Amino acid sequence: MNSQRFYLFLQKQILLMIGLSMIPGLAYILLGWMYGVAEPALIWYAMMTAVSLFGWKLYHDFKPDLMDETSLEIWYNRLSLFYYLIFILWTVIFLFYCTETKYNLHYIAIFTQIGASVVASTLLVSDKRLFLPVLLIMMIPLIIYFALIGEWYGYVLSVFSTIFLGVLLYSSENSYRLIQKNYYQAQHDALTGLYNRRFFVEYMERLIARLQISNKFVYILLIDLDHFKTINDTLGHDIGDKVLQEVAERIRRYCGYRYTIARLGGDEFVIVSQEYESTEDCQSLAFNFSETLLQLIKAPYLIDDHHLYLSASIGINGVGKRATDAQHFIKEADIAMYEAKAQGRDGIILFNDELSKRVEHHLEIERRLYFALEHNEIELRYQPQVNKDQEVVGCEVLVRWNNPEYGFVSPSEFIHIAEKTGLIIELGNYILEEAFKTLRAWNARGIKLKQFSINISVRQFFHTSFGKEIETLIKTFLTQEMASQIVFEVTETILIEDIERIIQTMKRLKTMGITFSMDDFGTGYSSLSSLREMPIDELKIDRSFVSRLGRHSADEQMVKTILTMANIFGLSTVSEGVETEEQFQFLLKNGSDMFQGYYFARPLDKEQFETFYMERNGKVKRFKSLAYEI
Ligand code: C2E
Ligand code: CA
Ligand code: CA
Repeated sequence: MNSQRFYLFLQKQILLMIGLSMIPGLAYILLGWMYGVAEPALIWYAMMTAVSLFGWKLYHDFKPDLMDETSLEIWYNRLSLFYYLIFILWTVIFLFYCTETKYNLHYIAIFTQIGASVVASTLLVSDKRLFLPVLLIMMIPLIIYFALIGEWYGYVLSVFSTIFLGVLLYSSENSYRLIQKNYYQAQHDALTGLYNRRFFVEYMERLIARLQISNKFVYILLIDLDHFKTINDTLGHDIGDKVLQEVAERIRRYCGYRYTIARLGGDEFVIVSQEYESTEDCQSLAFNFSETLLQLIKAPYLIDDHHLYLSASIGINGVGKRATDAQHFIKEADIAMYEAKAQGRDGIILFNDELSKRVEHHLEIERRLYFALEHNEIELRYQPQVNKDQEVVGCEVLVRWNNPEYGFVSPSEFIHIAEKTGLIIELGNYILEEAFKTLRAWNARGIKLKQFSINISVRQFFHTSFGKEIETLIKTFLTQEMASQIVFEVTETILIEDIERIIQTMKRLKTMGITFSMDDFGTGYSSLSSLREMPIDELKIDRSFVSRLGRHSADEQMVKTILTMANIFGLSTVSEGVETEEQFQFLLKNGSDMFQGYYFARPLDKEQFETFYMERNGKVKRFKSLAYEI
């Protein structure tokens, strides 16, 4: 139990205690002088002054931010000594004056002793180890004194004092418990009993201040469970809570008392290590430690008859002299943890400078992307799709971001940033609008494509007003006939979402004439059954398979299987990333319907596409008609 805040409370009482001893103590000297017992009173007051000076020193020695556990412990023991001494001195003066019956000084002595007991029970209430013995030291001599009077009123007073002692002990104990409970609740997470975020941040701040001086190092581990949301969503929050408790218990058992563990909220935990002399020690230990911990977290869970399997992503960050701010180190650990997530979860990443630079770049992109639309930096390219006769029958719309500082930024880089920040909605709408305008213009110029494919991101697809917006855009820019040229390319990640909802949205869009293509097919989550349930019309065979054709027989098999399967389901197929004649021939032979890739054309701007279309289709047609004539 961390008791530093109580130490602070006890420290504050030192000055009050000194004041309450030195000032009324003067009255005893006066009384001693008046009644001829000045000498012992002066000796007593001198001792009280010495103890007070000791207390004064303790008050100034207390620097919780800079003291480690041992020096705090030493300080606390001295503090206890101070309080014991000061109350023993009060008892001593009581014992001395209570025998002075002739001047009625004993009345003053008795009252002072009772008063001092009340003071003790109030000032020391935060620490049971102090108030309990001190109250006994104060009250027992009083009880005995009354009993020794030998008269009936003495016995009555003795009994009353005992009751009074009982009441003081009882009320101190109650307040103590209440304080402890409040303190515990303020520092701990109710579900798991681990420390909470608030405590953790304060703890880190104190720790960092100490590390600045000691030149030592610790590491922190930020642990985030993978796909925990799925457990909550599918099995309910009760099970989710139990899983979190079990995870917390596993972490606690593994860490023992050497580490500080906190739950930061949700499914995020953090562990702070012991202190080490060098960063190298710290790093390698942190890694081994995390690996074992990850294995423990991954062991199967049996909760209410459910067998569950979890994994976690862990970010490690070394904490030393680099910065003074706790949030700084937590943020870096967070970056490392997110990197572990990005690399496919179930992993451990150590924060380093390169990662930091990448994140900075990422943030910079995020910031600039925000203004990209406003500054007209977003452009569209159109990559031709050809049929078996290499005629242009379609195109895929690909977005380009031309930034004055960075040049062309690849959509693979900025689309997921836009998805993360939510900007994809605005960006997506802009792309749709521009693309629709192009489609209308091309139709007007006699460029009649069978299909006009636009990439739709998952986030965009599930945006509440997506269907409505498409409807408005179609009404504004297109005819019914043009709308039926449109293909929306969605990726397999869409399948993580609620399948009923996907189908509902797709059906609504289909009534407007739009068809769907499954992009990057074969790389993700698709299962055959989900594919059959969904109103998909086309499969796009991923570039990664196509590029390995002729080199890996497994990929050839894969492509053949996909093409056969598409055939069975009655889906048309587009092979992406065709770069060579051999790849084209292979795909052609195995029944792919359409082809797209650098072998035919790179993504082109509007005018280039128009020229390419005219040349290609015109030439092919001319060639065909020539062949006819012959
Ligand atoms: P994608 O949908 O798989 O797009 C195909 C990517 O492959 C494009 O990259 C295209 O330029 C590239 N490519 C085409 N043929 C070849 C080839 O023969 N060889 C090689 N090496 N590459 C080829 P790009 O334009 O950089 O787009 C990357 C990804 O960004 C796209 O992958 C898509 O997921 C996303 N994206 C692009 N435009 C949009 C958009 O307007 N909206 C959304 N949501 N995502 C987009
Ligand atoms: Ca695509
Ligand atoms: Ca693709």
